[in-house]
Amino acid sequence: MIFINPRGAPELACDHCGCRWVDRLKGTAYCYECGEEITAASIAEFQQALVEFSAKGAGRQDSAK
Ligand SMILES: [Zn+2]
Repeated sequence: MIFINPRGAPELACDHCGCRWVDRLKGTAYCYECGEEITAASIAEFQQALVEFSAKGAGRQDSAK
């Protein structure tokens, strides 16, 4: 599950309980709240969202200068 925070940045959240407290330090990610595994598909989706966000952010900074 991907949330978009008020600044427009994506945040990875648990598919099962929707919380954003996930542990990604050990390769496989687990939710702190319910202990369910965060799927590789969710992580891939989040990383793609991050790439898109940073591409947009870079564009905004360039046009503001
Ligand atoms: Zn959870």
